[in-house]
Amino acid sequence: MPAKPSECPRCAHERIEQLFASPVLGVWDVLQCGRCLYTWRTSEPDRRSRRDAYPEAFRLTEAAIANAIEVPAIPPLTGHS
Ligand SMILES: [Zn+2]
Repeated sequence: MPAKPSECPRCAHERIEQLFASPVLGVWDVLQCGRCLYTWRTSEPDRRSRRDAYPEAFRLTEAAIANAIEVPAIPPLTGHS
């Protein structure tokens, strides 16, 4: 079985939850970060599953998460019915 990572590949948070396990136990797990909600399968390549190989341009830090701008609101419907 793949070793459970100690930190999130995207934000380095240390609370990782297991969402799913492969039907044949021990082949892969689906894990999710408790902070940024990044979700990945342990069988994905290192650039998606390891902090040290995750692309720098997509890494998050605690400060970046705290300062993330609000998601744009959905505009009202235009009234055609
Ligand atoms: Zn994370």
